[in-house]
Amino acid sequence: MPSNSEGHPLWTTEALARAMGARSVGTPAKVVTDISIDSRTLEPGEAYVAIKGLAHDGHGFVAAALDKGAALAVVSEDWAATAPAGRYLIVADPLKALEKAGIAARARTAARIVAVTGSVGKTSSKEALAHVLAREGRTHAPPKSFNNHIGVPLTLARMPATSQFGVFEIGMNHSGEITPLTRMVRPDVAVVTTIEAVHLENLGSIEAIVDAKAEIFAGVEHGGAAVLPRDSRFFDRLARAARAAGIDTILSFGEHEEADVRLLRVSLSAQCSTVHARVMGQEVTYKLGSPGRHLAMNSLAVLAAAKLAGADLAIAAIALSDMRAVSGRGERSQRRLPHGSFTLLDESYNANPVSMRAAFAVLGAVKPAPKGRRIAVLGDMLELGAEGEALHAGLVGPLADAHVDLVFCAGPLMENLWKALPVGRRGAYAPTAAELESEVIRTLRSGDIVMVKGSRGSRMAPLVETLKAKF
Ligand code: ATP
Ligand code: MG
Repeated sequence: MPSNSEGHPLWTTEALARAMGARSVGTPAKVVTDISIDSRTLEPGEAYVAIKGLAHDGHGFVAAALDKGAALAVVSEDWAATAPAGRYLIVADPLKALEKAGIAARARTAARIVAVTGSVGKTSSKEALAHVLAREGRTHAPPKSFNNHIGVPLTLARMPATSQFGVFEIGMNHSGEITPLTRMVRPDVAVVTTIEAVHLENLGSIEAIVDAKAEIFAGVEHGGAAVLPRDSRFFDRLARAARAAGIDTILSFGEHEEADVRLLRVSLSAQCSTVHARVMGQEVTYKLGSPGRHLAMNSLAVLAAAKLAGADLAIAAIALSDMRAVSGRGERSQRRLPHGSFTLLDESYNANPVSMRAAFAVLGAVKPAPKGRRIAVLGDMLELGAEGEALHAGLVGPLADAHVDLVFCAGPLMENLWKALPVGRRGAYAPTAAELESEVIRTLRSGDIVMVKGSRGSRMAPLVETLKAKF
């Protein structure tokens, strides 16, 4: 997302230092064009913030960032005490300083802000919303899934003062994580996409998940609104939490007859869906550029949020039609074989039982060419806790419903599915995705439709990269 498309500096160094409570040392540039926490992707003129992550301490890359032409580096007192000369803003704690810059960026903009949380569909909805709002005005949104204690303040600090809309993704693994993030973002509209039993491992009960998502309401601006999933059995609990947080405007979406944004009908085809919906009494029909019932559901939330943010509903609905699936989340491509071609559905970014089923449904809706087969290449779904093994084995039914002909499994959890599969549907099993690669490649033939999906940690994305590079 262009965060600085107009060529204005994002921050003057003076304003950034003031926001961060920083002391300037050496010869920082007068302005910064953007903010980066990764020296590998940093562009000249950007401010580099040295964040301590799980694996690395960003202070180790300050020299690299300055060599690449960083306007300045935001570093800690401790590190600066023994640092070589450089262009520095010195702070007690760079992550805290980034948060302060984020809070200041929020305070100086008049943008309408939407924050999205939920068990699945945050990034898909965030991307769609940013796409729709960009038709209406200057829109700032993070790339990828920048949704945690680093990604959220970073996105906020990168928001140009002249933004008219901002879209944020807020995620969590534990209760208590969303509250400080939503208080920084101060959304005008809070969206909860779905409530599902993912991250059960950390949270214990589904009610605890609901309450953890409901934390997003704590930061909503006075007079703000919430968009909630009407079909969820936890709708009432969410709505109660929203009202308790002082939110009077609640729009619901779903198939439920009382939904404010209601799905009337969706026709799925291989390439797109046509959605008929009633949006606050007004019937609208629109196309979605990528297929899948789950994306149609997300689009209802997107329209509700766009409307609440001040967008024109008709324009928003039209904008959805030229939205394409993002890499790793349903991106479709045609790959060449020595004789003919096959279709690749890249779902490698993420997986849990809900999104697996949604992806199978898409695979089931695509008709393979004559002699072609529906093939699923699946990696472990992680973070499912004690239910993990059963939830993997339980995919047999949904795979059959989607008429999947061959299933390839990688990983110790997927072994449970592998064992439960009828022999005729077994492709191959390997302990890791890397070891499965050659088996998949050997099996491919023209007309096949191949869907690759698994949790990020199961490393299905490199398998997709291999297929893309080879075919
Ligand atoms: P993360 O917590 O990793 O950031 P996320 O909430 O941002 O995940 P997405 O990246 O949008 O979720 O989607 C993850 C997967 O779930 C993708 O395969 C996507 O196609 C699928 N998905 C998206 N929306 C839904 C939905 N409403 N119901 C079921 N599956 C969905
Ligand atoms: Mg995400």
